Amino acid sequence: MTEPTGLGMSKVARILMVEDDEDDYILTSDSLEQLDSYQFDIHWVTNPKVAVEKLSQEEFDICLLDFQLGAQSGLDVLRQAIKLGCMTPIIMLTGQDDDNLDKLAQDAGAVDYINKEDISTGRFARAIRYALARNEVASERLERLKAETQNRSKDRFLAHLSHELRTPLTSILGYTELLLQGEKAKESRSELNIILSNGKHLLSLLNDVLDLSKIAADKLELNPSEINLDSFIADVFYLLQINAQDKGLSLVITAPHALPERIRADSTRLRQILINLSYNAIKFTDHGQVAIKLWTEWVEQKELLFFEVADTGIGIPAERLASIFKPFEQVEDIVTRKEGGAGLGLAICTELARRMGGELSVESELGKGSRFRFAIEPGDISDVPRSELHFVKADTNQDNEQYDPLQGRVLVVDDAPDIRQLVQKICDGFGLQVVTAENGLQAVQMCNESLSLDTPFTLVLMDIHMPVLGGRQAIAQIREAGFTAPVIALTAAALKGVKRSLMDIGFSDVLHKPINKKALYQCMSMHLAAQESGEQIDEVEPHILLVEDDVDAAEVSKLLLESLGAKVTLAFTGAECLAVLQSSLPVCKILLDLHLPDTDGLSLAAQIRTISPELEIVVVSGAQIEASQLSALNISRSLLKPLNLSTLQSLID
Ligand code: ADP
Repeated sequence: MTEPTGLGMSKVARILMVEDDEDDYILTSDSLEQLDSYQFDIHWVTNPKVAVEKLSQEEFDICLLDFQLGAQSGLDVLRQAIKLGCMTPIIMLTGQDDDNLDKLAQDAGAVDYINKEDISTGRFARAIRYALARNEVASERLERLKAETQNRSKDRFLAHLSHELRTPLTSILGYTELLLQGEKAKESRSELNIILSNGKHLLSLLNDVLDLSKIAADKLELNPSEINLDSFIADVFYLLQINAQDKGLSLVITAPHALPERIRADSTRLRQILINLSYNAIKFTDHGQVAIKLWTEWVEQKELLFFEVADTGIGIPAERLASIFKPFEQVEDIVTRKEGGAGLGLAICTELARRMGGELSVESELGKGSRFRFAIEPGDISDVPRSELHFVKADTNQDNEQYDPLQGRVLVVDDAPDIRQLVQKICDGFGLQVVTAENGLQAVQMCNESLSLDTPFTLVLMDIHMPVLGGRQAIAQIREAGFTAPVIALTAAALKGVKRSLMDIGFSDVLHKPINKKALYQCMSMHLAAQESGEQIDEVEPHILLVEDDVDAAEVSKLLLESLGAKVTLAFTGAECLAVLQSSLPVCKILLDLHLPDTDGLSLAAQIRTISPELEIVVVSGAQIEASQLSALNISRSLLKPLNLSTLQSLID
């Protein structure tokens, strides 16, 4: 090992001296020792062959090479060493001043040429310093290059690893979901559920480990974009609500004052932190509530957006508060604990929050509950209008779209007052008359009454999860009573994939929460028009072109999409994909895997754009893709493998 440098110690430079004259060796060594700021570790060889060998081993910082080595010329040593790829700077020493020899030496690759008479002068010292400095720069550059190459290959490795693991998981999870849907699953349902939950766990572990390694390699990049805060929070709310309901917990999201309507941040990562903290809150709470609070606050002349997730759960012992933010740290021993999880979530959230502008902190009292808090920089929000949270999903395309008025009397059934009010307002806006009910029982009674008065509702919008009487039981009773008008189910996002089962029990259609005004209008106007003309509505079956080279993954995604009512055509290569597009087959959407045998997905997307500039392309890949690459090709969505039923359902909606 070399001595540490820069601590008042002089550097150690290793010198190979190729010299057949002992006097000259001593003279040169003495001169070297006069040089301060360096210590020299001198290896002396006299034999040209040994010299070439040593030089090819690259162990020296400089070589001083005598021009005349007995019968042999130092030039030969120089030439052979260079031929073997020697990078050590070589200085030729000679007994005579000769411009011609100087030139020969330089041409053969020597960095300098010095007359032995100059060995005790400044000229020699300068030559040595120069050669050493040059060597240092070269080796620093080499180290940097090496590190860069390693980083690049690590990136490639991670991207490949991610792809290679996700593709088989697509088949495992996909076929399990398919089997669970079918009749055959009856006997092995519990085993299939075990495979599904373990597969999902494996996937979340894979995501966490990839995130952590990106963080460790300093490769985690944020992709900030504009976020509609209300619709963002609505999405998160509906996702979490189901888990909270399953445990009998109430979930509330509040904002003590109006919030900026738009912020600028990485929505995927912000969602990841919020969902992680909220899932933990739900996981570690058996009674009470999980409350999410948002507010803005000025900190050091910046207006930050704060998030807080508070629960009434088991709490965390004071001595463990710091350690839970470290990877693989959990309060309870993995052997004794009943909750799942690997202990990576908070470590990732801490880093994500730090990069988004604030620190993740926690307060907790054992047995009473915990309160996690973090802040993000929301971009410049000084001129952004502020408003209350409404939990409405934004219409992504046209915000101020005009809707032709609809006619009819609509019953809106939902237990959440906010949602009831919201749907009522939207329907009012469409020109409809609206009556509301708080649960299935009220809805059944009101439908019966409307029938007996001979003024049946023209349409019903009904929530599925409700106290007293749920939507599934209510529809059965409503239909039994002879109510034939359309009843549209409103269901939360994570319950996607149940469209068919809801339609089988009597619903006319299914809409997903968060409510999208445009989708609600389209659905209602279609059913109202059909009812007026007495037509049956044919479900529109989308034609999706699925481009995926892995046969298993392609097959299972096709089956899953078909189980959701879509028509699917497969293409295994870029060429096949282009051929389908040029055929007469009507394609409404392309699902494009990025790893293809004959082309990379993004180049293929560029080619598709020349054939179909407006066709919706959804990119599917094993690793995250930069938003700028996608927007350049007018690609609105990218999905991470594996694709499951609920992601695929969101493509069809
Ligand atoms: P995981 O939940 O997968 O174990 P996390 O990193 O998200 O991993 O959390 C680490 C540990 O912190 C958890 O195992 C749990 O012991 C503790 N913890 C996190 N959130 C809460 C909470 N809301 N209430 C009680 N304990 C919590």
